[in-house]
Amino acid sequence: MKKRIYIQMTAIAAMASLATMLLVAFVCYELFCGQILEDLRTDAYLLKEAENREDILQSDLVASGGLLRVTWVDGQGEVIFENSADAAEMNNHSGRPEILQALEEGEGEAVRRSHTVQKSSFYYAVRLEDGSVIRVAREADSIWSIFAGILPAVFLILAILLVLCMVIARFLTKNLLAPIERIAQNVEHPLEEAYEELVPFVETIRKQHEDILKNAGMRQEFTANVSHELKTPLAAISGYSELIENGMAAGEDIVRFAGEIHRNSNRLLTLIDDVIRLSELDASEREEEFAMIDLREIADTCVNMLQVHAEKHGVELAFEGERCIVCSERRMMEELVYNLCDNAIRYNREGGRVRVETKTEKGCPVLCVEDTGIGIGKEHQERIFERFYRVDKSRSKSTGGTGLGLAIVKHIVAKNHAGLKLESEWGEGTRITVVFGGQSPCKGPDG
Ligand code: ADP
Repeated sequence: MKKRIYIQMTAIAAMASLATMLLVAFVCYELFCGQILEDLRTDAYLLKEAENREDILQSDLVASGGLLRVTWVDGQGEVIFENSADAAEMNNHSGRPEILQALEEGEGEAVRRSHTVQKSSFYYAVRLEDGSVIRVAREADSIWSIFAGILPAVFLILAILLVLCMVIARFLTKNLLAPIERIAQNVEHPLEEAYEELVPFVETIRKQHEDILKNAGMRQEFTANVSHELKTPLAAISGYSELIENGMAAGEDIVRFAGEIHRNSNRLLTLIDDVIRLSELDASEREEEFAMIDLREIADTCVNMLQVHAEKHGVELAFEGERCIVCSERRMMEELVYNLCDNAIRYNREGGRVRVETKTEKGCPVLCVEDTGIGIGKEHQERIFERFYRVDKSRSKSTGGTGLGLAIVKHIVAKNHAGLKLESEWGEGTRITVVFGGQSPCKGPDG
């Protein structure tokens, strides 16, 4: 960009210099021509003022010999006198424009440019009282021959100007681009030096830069968390298998250790499944799998499936609902209901209750999962949808949690353009409500 601006600036300056020189040359030449004609006019009137024919012929102007040509013609254009040639041999001059004009109007002028001789002839004619015409003429170099004469000087001046232009253009380009370079070096705090026109552009870049940094930070944190989460069960598996391998476990211990290995492997598998699912939801923008599905049917099936799990925790799990059609993907809806119900059971207490409901409110399909469990303190409510955020880490792990369930829920809700509401009271219970009805990607009632 720098090079381009520099070259363009130099080219513009060089062209401007050349054009100025040419224009000045033409204007000067026109002034020069005007001056010659003016001089000729003065000479012609001086001759006219002479009192008689002898005075004219003997005047200094006529005798000057060659520099000034004086021609005297009678009213019919016949040459009476010519100071630089033999009048008798000259043809009739009545056709010459300056003489014609002088005969008609009293005075006339003409310039005849000769391309071959590279000279121009200037004529001025005045009519005398007796009807004859005195014409004075001079030759001068044409503009081209004047120009050819000064060409070396022109080139020298042009070369000097070009060098000057290049130096100034380099300086200006550097000055022009310096603020932009400063912005590029310091994208985070660029506004103090930015051009006014660049402010929106810089603002966008700064925001993108911040987003990129934030995303990179989140990704790094996620990778570190995943590695950490994988490490614990793997260390347990490695430890128990080593004990068995070294023959340090016998009888019942082997069964117990095998059980631990099994439990930790399952934990690993669930964790990996959740990580894969999260990255799938992150990556895919596809909505072609979306179709009209009945949320009641999905919630009902899920609640039935989780009954045994709920009984194990001493929790009563119930579903009630009306037909509730949403435009979504079946697998996503199953995961949504499953994750919310699973949490409601796991973070509950003996004798607690979980109520799952599907309904339509103000025309929008709604899923509501309510429990009488341990609840979530206000200070944690904003953060529980973050990846790996847990209020009670040991409880989460002991009940098979990965810390990713609500992150997946948040993703699914966003993909369905739905709304998510969390109401919870520490020690009393939690209610999570998902309201559908944003922009629907389904075309018609049949999807
Ligand atoms: P986890 O696998 O640990 O359950 P989640 O992402 O599903 O991870 O939930 C994040 C955290 O939010 C949980 O560790 C738990 O502390 C809290 N939580 C989620 N659902 C409930 C609930 N229904 N009642 C109380 N706490 C909950």
